[in-house]
Amino acid sequence: MASTETNGPMILCDGLVKIYKVQDLEIVALQGLDLMVDRGEFMAIIGPSGSGKSSLMNILGGLDRPSAGKTIVDGQDLLKLSSFALTRYRRQKVGFLWQQPSRNLIPYLSVEENVELPMIVAGMSYKERKDWTRELLEAVGLWDRRHHDLPRLSGGEQQRTAIGVALSNKPVLLLADEPTGEVDTATAETILNTLRFLNREYNLTIVTVTHDTRLSDQVDRVVTIRDGRTSSERVRRLRAAVVEEAGEMVAEDNGETAAEEHEVSYHEYAVLDYAGRLQIPRDYLEEMGISDRAQIELTEAGILITPATGLDNASAQAARVSQVSEQWGPQRRPADLKLRLSDASRGLRKLFGKEKE
Ligand code: ADP
Ligand code: MG
Repeated sequence: MASTETNGPMILCDGLVKIYKVQDLEIVALQGLDLMVDRGEFMAIIGPSGSGKSSLMNILGGLDRPSAGKTIVDGQDLLKLSSFALTRYRRQKVGFLWQQPSRNLIPYLSVEENVELPMIVAGMSYKERKDWTRELLEAVGLWDRRHHDLPRLSGGEQQRTAIGVALSNKPVLLLADEPTGEVDTATAETILNTLRFLNREYNLTIVTVTHDTRLSDQVDRVVTIRDGRTSSERVRRLRAAVVEEAGEMVAEDNGETAAEEHEVSYHEYAVLDYAGRLQIPRDYLEEMGISDRAQIELTEAGILITPATGLDNASAQAARVSQVSEQWGPQRRPADLKLRLSDASRGLRKLFGKEKE
């Protein structure tokens, strides 16, 4: 899984915009998303439904095109690729893992045949194909079951076969959209262990969308997307000193010992975009009673954000604009307008002396 570019991050999204046009409607799925993923990182993307996670994955996977902004993967700017180059990118650079393993698999072929098929299509030589198939099937723990038909496999085994298929083209990047979305805890665990093994063994960059905390608790970094933008990120930290003291540096190939699990801590960061904009979690704002305006002060400890006080009349009024406009939302306007029209016509009728009082 060699990459052509060895410098720079694996993924760089700078102001990525995705707009879907459906008849006359424009749906903005991504509105200036910034994201950087290092080579060899294993990271997760979380966020509410409809926040743009799948749109992002489809763009990174070359299945869909960005509308604007920069999206560079392994040194290639996806916005600028021709259709031909984008197809080649999709075939050579990325592997895709879906929620339903069936999307990667052909049911009447054996495990081995499924993994080998994309290599045949790609024109890989016999020897390279056989070697890589064996290595992959050993990596996902299915070498012993290589002759099995898919219907005889468990859900976890099918998803591991799908991982083998996703990696058959030796991609530099594995994209997974909710890979543990439909499985029980034990299966989720084996999928996670397989991904983690591949990440460590091959330094494979993995980006996974998930709402599964069993998965997001185990990756290097978790980025939250809200309304088509990156809003916060959580970074996993290993307190190495403590681990060393415990004298239990963990063996690489099998899972973690309890000691390592306990030395992991997370740190939550807010993400700044290129213009210096910051999304503050809604519950923090509510807790502080901040709605439209806030005060920002530079203090010794950092930047302090407090509710706005001492607004003069003009700015106090400005601050209330969005509140008022909310109350005057579209549903209220017709009634309001009718009222005002009837007022006005009453006024006119009065003027022309037609109103009976
Ligand atoms: P998520 O994966 O986080 O649930 P999506 O990326 O699927 O979010 O969707 C983001 C927004 O874009 C949603 O409003 C969704 O309805 C819209 N959307 C996604 N795909 C399409 C499409 N092919 N055509 C039109 N709108 C789409
Ligand atoms: Mg989705």
